[in-house]
Formats: sequence, structure tokens, C-alpha cells
Amino acid sequence: MNERIYNFNPGPAVLPEEVLKEVQSELLNFRGTGMSILEISHRAPAYEEVHRWAKADIKELMGLGDDYDVVFTAGGASQTFALIPLNFASEEHPGSYALSGSFSEKAYAEAAHLGVGTVAASTKEEDYARVPAQEELHIAPHAAYLHICLNNTIYGTEYGYTPKTNGVPLFADMSSDILSRPWDFGSYDFIYAGVQKNLGPAGVVLNVAKKSLLEKSPAELPTMLRYSTFQKNDSLYNTPPVFAIYMVGKVAAWIKAQGGLAAMGKRNAEKAALLYGAVDSSDGFYCGHAAEGSRSRMNITFRLRDAALEQKFVAEAKERGLSGIKGHRSVGGMRASIYNAMPLAGVEKLAAFMDEFRRANR
Ligand code: PMP
Repeated sequence: MNERIYNFNPGPAVLPEEVLKEVQSELLNFRGTGMSILEISHRAPAYEEVHRWAKADIKELMGLGDDYDVVFTAGGASQTFALIPLNFASEEHPGSYALSGSFSEKAYAEAAHLGVGTVAASTKEEDYARVPAQEELHIAPHAAYLHICLNNTIYGTEYGYTPKTNGVPLFADMSSDILSRPWDFGSYDFIYAGVQKNLGPAGVVLNVAKKSLLEKSPAELPTMLRYSTFQKNDSLYNTPPVFAIYMVGKVAAWIKAQGGLAAMGKRNAEKAALLYGAVDSSDGFYCGHAAEGSRSRMNITFRLRDAALEQKFVAEAKERGLSGIKGHRSVGGMRASIYNAMPLAGVEKLAAFMDEFRRANR
């Protein structure tokens, strides 16, 4: 294959082509150092600048001030599921979890394993076709935090609101919709995202949190499990995933150049509307998984009325350069992931293929 395809994979996922080209051009000799960014010390001034700018651009995009800090950790969002209760919850002050899909279940499981988790709400009985509503959230009294997963990558659902918590700190896994729209990030106390969907390659977790929280990890935790270690040392206590952070900085700069979160939000809404339009106008040939009001703008999940046609759909889509559309095994059907870097042209092509396939197979 000589040409790039349209990559609808859920993550690792499509990255902006401009960014990939820029990285390629810098790969052998990073800013006159005579070394690749892949070879450079994390203490080198050229890297320090990358690190500083990545953090600054992210905070600027999120509109957050000095009371927030950006911390880079490794281990994936999955390790963060454990780090959060270890650092912030206790038996007296458990974490309260809103269950809206597989990843919020996994986050809760880590807290439950430590004996410090409670369930605030769950939509499991509805096959996670929607996120919990505000009035369904029963936040534990004295909870250390309410944890939500803002966008549910597998089920294709997304919160359209920020929960009110009555003073309980609000924590959110934003792995699959971070920086995809203007959002009231300042209402959240702890935000984290595995960056491999909207922000970069796999290998780093972006954490943006209130400084006052990051500072207060329990002293008895091992050094590398304490957020305070990362905060005090500017995420440079040990060797961070230098290349992944460099890419995050590049993607953040790309988002700014595109017009920031307002432009991202507009484009993402337009893309999602095209695919939901193809589902809704199909006379039941396609059937969306997510309930109206919870539909994700990032992961569009749908089935074919005739499940026997699903394999054919995937194969024919692939022949047209539309790749990664098969749904997660726990939901089945299709899932088109259309993160920030998916061009409108890719979504238009998929929507046109959906119409064409329906006409040919009804
Ligand atoms: N949370 C969400 C919302 C996800 O989509 C994913 C990965 N698909 C994870 C957490 C787990 O991330 P990781 O693989 O970085 O541990």
C-alpha cells in the first residue's frame, strides 16, 4: 500500500498528517542538536523546552490557570485506575464511581480491590447505551471524589454535561475525547487521558489536576506511585516517555493552529452528524447503539439489521481504504472512531459508502 488510508481505529489512532510530516523532518537532527529526539537526554535543554511548551499549550487550550498542574505518567490509563484510589481514596473517604462502560468498570474494580470504592450509578442494565443522568448519581457521603468516564470508547456514549457534585472533587477519564471540544475543564479536579486517541502515540498519560490534590499523596506509597513525586519533579523524577510527550506537544500546537477547541468542537460535531445522519436515514438498515442524548462525537457505534452482512460491510469498507471499523467484541457491530485528526473527507467517504452499501444490500 503506497497511500495512507482512512484509519477509524479506536486507539492508537489517526494522527494529523501535518504533525507526522513535521516529526519525520525533525527525526534525524532535532533542532540542530545533531541527535534525534529519540536519542536525546530528558535533561537536555532542547527537551526541556519541548516539555515546557507541551504543558503550557495544554493548559492554555483547556483555559486553566496556576491552580492546575500538568503531570505526565506512564503505565496507561489502566494504571491510573489504580493510582487514583491509592493516592486519594480511603475507607473513610472512598471513591464514588459512575459506571457507564467497560473502562469505568475497570476503574471502579481497582478501587474496589483496595476496599475504597463505591458505585454512584450504573447504566449496565441498559447495555451501557447511555450515560447516567445527574439525578441518578448517588455520590457516597464523604466521598473522596466522583469518578466518571466522559466518553465511553467501546459503547460510543459521551456525557453532554458536567456532573454537579455538591463539593465532592470531580475526577474524569477523558482518554477518548480530551481536547475535542470546548469544555468546562475548570469544574474538574483531576482529568486524565491515555493520549493514544486524540493527542499522540501510546506511551504516556496526560494528567491535569488541581495542584492542591497532586501535592497530597500518602507518604507511605512507593515513590513512583505517588502523584506528588511527579508534581514536585515536573514529571522528570525518572526518564519520562520523551518521544510521546514531544508528540503530545506537537498535536497540541496543531490544535491551536486549527483554531483551538472551538474549531475542533465544530468540526467534530459536523463529522459525527454525517455518520449519525447515515444511520438515522437508513430506515433501520443501520441501528445506532447509543441512546439519543448520549451519542458520542468520537466513537460512532452501530449495527447492521442483518448481522450476516457485517463481515461484508467491513471487507468492502476496507477495500475502499476505510479501515478499523469493526466494533469491539463486547458490543459487536461497527465502530467508527473519528477523533480530532480524522479529516472530514474520511467521514464523508464513510457516510457515502454506508449509503451505497445500504442501497446495494437492502
Ligand atoms: N479509558 C478509556 C476511555 C479508554 O478508551 C481506554 C483505552 N481504550 C482506557 C481507559 C485504557 O487505556 P490504556 O490502554 O492507556 O490503559
